[in-house]
Amino acid sequence: MERLRTNLLRIDKKGYKAYKDIQGTYEGSGFRLHIDYVQGDPFAAPSRLRLEFKRETIKYDESCFQPAHRRTAFEDFLAREAAQRLFSFRNDIRGTGKSGLINIDSPGQEILPRTAVLVTPQKVEFRLFVGLPAAGRTVLGKEAERLLCQYVPGLIKKAALEFDRTKLAAQLSLSDKQEFIRNFLAEHGYICFVANGSILPRESGISNRPLRGQQVVPFSSPPSLEIEIPLPQDKPLKGMALPQGVSLIVGGGYHGKSTLLKAIERGVYNHIAGDGREYVITDCTAYKIRAEDGRRIERVNISPFINNLPFGKDTERFTSDDASGSTSQAANIIEGLEIGSKLLLIDEDTSATNFMIRDARMQELVSKNKEPITPFVDKVRQLYTDYGVSTIIVIGGSGDYFDVADHIIMMDEYRPREVTEKAREISKSLTQLRQQEGGHSFGSITPRIIRPQSFNAFRGRKEKVDCKGLHTIIYGVNTINLSLVEQLVDSSQTRAIAEMIRYIANNLADGSTDLSVIVERLYNEISQKGLDVISPYYGKHPGDLALPRTIELAAALNRLRTLQVK
Ligand code: ADP
Ligand code: MG
Repeated sequence: MERLRTNLLRIDKKGYKAYKDIQGTYEGSGFRLHIDYVQGDPFAAPSRLRLEFKRETIKYDESCFQPAHRRTAFEDFLAREAAQRLFSFRNDIRGTGKSGLINIDSPGQEILPRTAVLVTPQKVEFRLFVGLPAAGRTVLGKEAERLLCQYVPGLIKKAALEFDRTKLAAQLSLSDKQEFIRNFLAEHGYICFVANGSILPRESGISNRPLRGQQVVPFSSPPSLEIEIPLPQDKPLKGMALPQGVSLIVGGGYHGKSTLLKAIERGVYNHIAGDGREYVITDCTAYKIRAEDGRRIERVNISPFINNLPFGKDTERFTSDDASGSTSQAANIIEGLEIGSKLLLIDEDTSATNFMIRDARMQELVSKNKEPITPFVDKVRQLYTDYGVSTIIVIGGSGDYFDVADHIIMMDEYRPREVTEKAREISKSLTQLRQQEGGHSFGSITPRIIRPQSFNAFRGRKEKVDCKGLHTIIYGVNTINLSLVEQLVDSSQTRAIAEMIRYIANNLADGSTDLSVIVERLYNEISQKGLDVISPYYGKHPGDLALPRTIELAAALNRLRTLQVK
């Protein structure tokens, strides 16, 4: 660190490029600082630093990194600690552009594997972004010395060494319970669990935080669907568990149907203490399906749902640059099945009506051979019987689904009731006049081989792979729009997807492998080498990335407008 100090004072008042000299590794007391990348000018993307501490310094035992979910929880904990310290720090360094900035990728309501902090059996490493100080394009050496030799190590040392061990134990123990519930549900054939007392509604349509106040109704399970999960070292947890099969959520408008489904959607991730959804746990392959007109579709076999389009358009290899509501919803389902989803989540609010239902009167007026769409109501059971894929559907507008459901939950002033029996009786008394149109089986899910030509990251002579917020990936001259991929929750996941696509293009798309196999290979690689492996800076500062699910990665590939399938 003495060497860094002298160096910084030596380049004081020189041109900004002089900062390039400080790249390298420095030993401090109790830590090691790596300056991996130095920004080109004060406005450019900030410099990348890693601060490394030995296991002896931080003193953590094996239970902090084994099993894997504990390691993720510990890494997340340290990232939050660091973010908190940086947030409340009053930084006196002023200058041009990003001068004085100190950042770490800070987690939201979910606990995701991310690259912000790395924990191994030997060390802990914090990955930071720092703006090297300048006045105009002139190096501010004294300020840089304060920033890199005092503030950065000082703050991060505090985060690494002075955290509350009880709080850490609580976070690790919460992650144990969440993991236990996930395994318990899988072993007992349940697709999701919502604990009694959970707080499902969010603060607002643009916030992920819990709604607070008198008017909030905590979740309470209908007695018939209630189970008790025997948590180790804690009292059993009660709540609603949905078995595999087809479940409906019905009820009047504004009674909390979509809120319940949304919570289930997000239950594929673990949430932090205080979120209200800590114990809302869903099969981690659950996929939210919706209509998405305008999206691109590349050779997807949507024939289980759609056939005989006008002008004989092929629906076994359906391609469109501007899909309709129903074809996009069909493609979303088939792509979800292709990547291995075992649970589909559908809300009537965001579905194409003609995809969901076709009632008796319409069957009378428009004959089957004039309607290309086989409605979902005639396919949802086959999905379960043929492929073991369950579905949860929010539907307040059509009783035709009563006949195909195993469980029907009615939301009544935010309280769920099971109404399966009652709905069955209604089905019997108001007899079904409609014809089943779904045939004998669901139909096939056709794997697709991706052509390497799909990927071109070049814009002119330069490679351009970038992200804007949560929903947009820029890949070469194309953008991928993910705004209707609803279970993407963190912009660091979006950045990771962009890197993954580049990785696939460079290493895995060989022109003879199925999309789902390519994705599986990539995730195998990640589980062996860590998430860092997808970064072009593997071995150094990998940037700020968080792990997406395979489903969201596939969703992005499927929305790449240049995707080509053999
Ligand atoms: P639906 O889909 O049945 O029309 P929503 O789920 O959209 O209804 O909920 C309607 C409103 O009620 C939303 O503003 C939501 O935040 C609020 N809400 C949902 N569940 C609860 C609850 N348990 N307690 C208080 N407010 C809730
Ligand atoms: Mg709704």
